[in-house]
Amino acid sequence: MKEVTLANGKIIKVDCLSCAITSGKVEPDGGVIVETDHFHAHQDVAYPIKGLVIVASKRHIKCMDELTEEEQLDYIKLIAKIRQAQRDILGIEYVYFFYNEDTTHHFHLWMVPRYGWMYEFGRSVESVRPVLLHARKEKSNREEVMEGIRLLKEELKRKGREG
Ligand SMILES: [Zn+2]
Repeated sequence: MKEVTLANGKIIKVDCLSCAITSGKVEPDGGVIVETDHFHAHQDVAYPIKGLVIVASKRHIKCMDELTEEEQLDYIKLIAKIRQAQRDILGIEYVYFFYNEDTTHHFHLWMVPRYGWMYEFGRSVESVRPVLLHARKEKSNREEVMEGIRLLKEELKRKGREG
């Protein structure tokens, strides 16, 4: 078990945060943004950045090459859909994507929107961590983040109905 600090300051103890979230044991702020048979998307629970989406697999795996073919297709379609919603609804021009396979959780992709204030930390992969920490320390924009979740949910639900 390890301790994880959520965006709302609550500290929880879990074996795998991704399992806890995708199974519904832990409800991230704003709940599920969108869900497929194999993946679960939610706002990052630790860093308050509007439109930051985490896409986690439902299976407890670590690496890209563990995805089945069906999961691979589901994954890329879902990511493209979320990316488009970030652009159309939240006006997010650029997103940084990353995932690390030696995570202490399980397979999850970070979709980190780029906002103007982030460029003072640079454009490289090294800039991502300081940006996240800055957001956690300095940004008290909970309403804005929750609004972003609500808008993304609505848009993705609408897209889902369209097929
Ligand atoms: Zn897990």
